[in-house]
Amino acid sequence: MGVSAPCPKCSGFSLHKSRSKNAIEKWIKKLIAIRIYRCGECKWRGWMSIRRAQGETPIRKVILFYMGLIILAFIVGIGLTTMLD
Ligand SMILES: [Zn+2]
Repeated sequence: MGVSAPCPKCSGFSLHKSRSKNAIEKWIKKLIAIRIYRCGECKWRGWMSIRRAQGETPIRKVILFYMGLIILAFIVGIGLTTMLD
């Protein structure tokens, strides 16, 4: 599982997983799908969801959802027009 997302601070592609420094961080890691990452360029360290780190942005999901909705509406529209004819 590589990190393909850019750094939130400097936009550099030098992010890598950071080790948990304390028990609370380890506990959070187990509870939710987020991990600590560190940037090799600007030394940023912070939490990021695994999905985001893997390059899967929520915006892409929203676009796909609406594209699917438009296609569905298009198919339904054709079906209705054919029936009316
Ligand atoms: Zn950075």
